[in-house]
Amino acid sequence: MATINSLYQHFLQHPTICTDTRNITDGCLFFALNGDKFDANTFATQAISQGAAYAIIDNENYQTDERCILVPDVLTALQDLAKHHRNQLNIPVIGLTGSNGKTTTKELINAVLAQKYTSFATKGNLNNHIGVPLSILSLTSKTEIAVIEMGANHQKEIEFLCDIAQPTHGLITNIGMAHLDGFGGFEGVKKGKAELFAYLKSQDGTAFINRDNPYIMEMSEKAMLNKVIYYGTEANNTVSGKLLKSDPFIELSWTNNAGSFNTEVHLTGAYNFENILAAIVIGQFFEVSPDQINAGLSGYLPNNNRSQITKTATNTVICDFYNANPSSMAAALKNIELLSSDNKTIIIGDMFELGQESPAQHQLIIEQAEKLSINTLIFIGHHFSEAKQANKGHFFSTPAEAQAFLKENPINNSLVLLKGSRGMALEQLLPLL
Ligand code: ATP
Ligand code: MG
Repeated sequence: MATINSLYQHFLQHPTICTDTRNITDGCLFFALNGDKFDANTFATQAISQGAAYAIIDNENYQTDERCILVPDVLTALQDLAKHHRNQLNIPVIGLTGSNGKTTTKELINAVLAQKYTSFATKGNLNNHIGVPLSILSLTSKTEIAVIEMGANHQKEIEFLCDIAQPTHGLITNIGMAHLDGFGGFEGVKKGKAELFAYLKSQDGTAFINRDNPYIMEMSEKAMLNKVIYYGTEANNTVSGKLLKSDPFIELSWTNNAGSFNTEVHLTGAYNFENILAAIVIGQFFEVSPDQINAGLSGYLPNNNRSQITKTATNTVICDFYNANPSSMAAALKNIELLSSDNKTIIIGDMFELGQESPAQHQLIIEQAEKLSINTLIFIGHHFSEAKQANKGHFFSTPAEAQAFLKENPINNSLVLLKGSRGMALEQLLPLL
């Protein structure tokens, strides 16, 4: 059996990690991570023949040559290797969790930090028990600072991810109605996310706190953090900001002890104001100048289907279909209500992982959407269709049914909100808009 130390020697020689035989790169380390439906050990030989330097496996029956490295458990080996690697790097790591806005805020923080540092941020949404180790293993001796997104839908997951990423600084974006099922309700969400603060407290780390958010304030006080940097709308914060405009993009002013600044960011949705402010306060903490902060923020162009405005041949589409939960859905509805347009369309899909709260939460969204002055209102998915007690709107059980409707009834010259949980894959409607 290989030890973590011996595995680490291999990693130093071959610092690229692959976990999928469809993406093998020359000289990588292939970790045979099991999926629900397959035994990845069976791919070890193939990975090596495709160019992997070594394959890390946990079934000796597949140890065909010395390039197959046997460990007790491949996933644990990946996580332990990441932890070992993190221990060698004496750099600030900003750990980021929260119910909504993690990826957006992570990108904004990185856009700011990259103005001054060789920074690294989690790629895409790689924020779980596999993604966090992979992110940590992407850090090199050149990395000066890292922003690591941590997602969770159960208790103790953030604690586990902190143990790997060892954040020196941390931010909880907000607390909302997300993953209620796994966390055990709203109080459970707070408890689960507070694990980041507990970790920071234990390591004497620094937390960035949105003073406007009562839940975050309550959690930070409960954690008795020693090092806290505040941001928000009040003047008594290290950075205080004011939302000036959010139609269609966000403009804000912000103030620190050196002066006042204005910034425009290519994101829609007033809810992004707090995400932007978090990036500003973190930039300032790490001594990025106001000009550099503004350059990073105004140069950020989202291409990840979160709060992104896309012009098609016939419509302007708010592409927010990467994911949805009751809080982010409510925020997106509020946003389209505020945007100026004579013709608005809402196309929203089911929100998953809500457990027993699901029917009531879908019904609340239906009621909120019905009240808006909207030209076309479309609900997609079984949850919406089953919750349906509506006076307005078209209901479809599946995206395919909605596609058929849109082919018959094309939408033109409209501002369209397209949003739903990842599993709804609402991007399939985009070609019809
Ligand atoms: P995931 O759990 O999928 O990783 P996330 O926390 O990384 O989500 P983002 O992907 O940044 O969040 O944003 C998802 C959606 O949440 C956005 O498209 C937007 O609708 C909404 N959102 C972003 N920021 C906020 C916020 N501060 N408050 C409420 N909703 C927000
Ligand atoms: Mg994310």
